[in-house]
Amino acid sequence: MEIKVIEAPPEKRKAKPGDESKLGFGKFFTDHMFTMTWRTGRGWHDPLIEPYRLLQLDPTAMCLHYAQEIFDGLKAYRGKDGALFLFRPMENIRRMNVSAERLCMPKIDEGVILEALTKLILVDRDWIPRGSGTSLYIRPTMIATEPALGVHPSNEYLFFIITGPVGAYYPEGFSPTRIYVTEEYCRAVPGGTGFCKAGGNYEASLYASQIAKDMGYTQVLWLDAIERKYVEEVGTSNMFFLIGDELITAPLKGTILPGVTRDSVIQLAGSWGVKVSERRLAMDEVMAAIAGGTLKEAFASGTAAIVSPVGQIYFRGVEHAIGGGKTGPLTERLYNEILQIQYGMKDDPFGWRLKIAD
Ligand SMILES: *Cc1c(COP(=O)(O)O)cnc(C)c1O
Repeated sequence: MEIKVIEAPPEKRKAKPGDESKLGFGKFFTDHMFTMTWRTGRGWHDPLIEPYRLLQLDPTAMCLHYAQEIFDGLKAYRGKDGALFLFRPMENIRRMNVSAERLCMPKIDEGVILEALTKLILVDRDWIPRGSGTSLYIRPTMIATEPALGVHPSNEYLFFIITGPVGAYYPEGFSPTRIYVTEEYCRAVPGGTGFCKAGGNYEASLYASQIAKDMGYTQVLWLDAIERKYVEEVGTSNMFFLIGDELITAPLKGTILPGVTRDSVIQLAGSWGVKVSERRLAMDEVMAAIAGGTLKEAFASGTAAIVSPVGQIYFRGVEHAIGGGKTGPLTERLYNEILQIQYGMKDDPFGWRLKIAD
C-alpha cells in the first residue's frame, strides 16, 4: 500500500509552541496526521498523511457507545547531532495488534504501521523539540466507526496517528510521587482486557484516581481484583519494588499492561546482575519489608516518565515512607541509562534504538 501525502498549505500551519519548558504532555499537536480506513470485505485502504483535522463521526458510531477503541503510545527522540530515534517501536506496534485482536478489531500489517509513523514524523520533523528531555509523543489509535447501535464488532474502523511535542518529565530533577493503595476498586479482572491499551480500562480507573488525588496522592496502586492482595500496577504505569536485593514486578497474567519500559527495566537490571522476579507480591509482604527496613526502593515505569520514584505509600489509613522519601540509586541508574539509549548518547547493547533520520 502506497501512503499518499497531502501537505498542509503554509496558511493552515499552526504556530509552534515557543517555550519548550512549558510543553507539558498532550497539549500540542503537529500539522499532520495519518489516517486509514477499514471496511468488512475491503480491508485496510486509503493510507493517507493529511493536514490535522477534526473527525466527522455519525452520532451512532460504535466507538462512542461501546468503547471499541484501542491506542498505543511511544516517542521519537532528537539526538544531539539532530538524528531521530524511536525506542523499540515494534513492541508498541505488536502490542497494538494484540489489543486489536482482543477487541475484535482488524489487525494492521506491522510494516505499514512503522512506515506510517516514520513518514508522519518526518513530515512534521520541525515540530520535534530540541530541549533536553523533550520528545515527540506518538499516539496511534483505532476506533469503531460503523453507524449502528446493536452490540457487535463494528464493520468499519478508522486508524489514525497523531503526534505532538511533549516536555521533559523531570525538568527540575526527580520528584518522588505519593501513591494510594485502593482495596475498594480494581482496574482489571482475569479474563478481561487489562493487558490491552483499550479506552475502557482507563475510564474504569478514573473514580479511584480522583479519590487518591483528592487526598493528595499522585496515583492509585491497583491490587488484583480477586483477592485484593497482590500488587498489579500504579496509575497507567507498571510497578517495581526493590526488597533486599530482589527487584520485583507483577507477572504478565492478563490483568496488567505489558509495558515496553517494564521489559526494558527487567532486561537492563538483569544485565547488571540484579535479581529480577516477575512474581506475585502481596501488600502484606510490602508492609513487612517496610517494617523490617528491607524495602529499599519503589518506582513506576512507563514511556512518559521512563521511571518515576515512589516516596510515600498510603495503605489502610497510614502513610509510609519508602527509601526515606528519596529517589533510590537503582531507580536513578535505570532512568539515566534508558534515557541515554533513547537519545543516542550511549551504545545500545540490546538493539532497542531505531534511527529514522540522520
Ligand atoms: C501504557 C501503560 C503502561 C506502560 O507501558 P509502556 O509501554 O512502558 O509505556 C503501563 N500500564 C498501563 C495501564 C498503561 O496504559
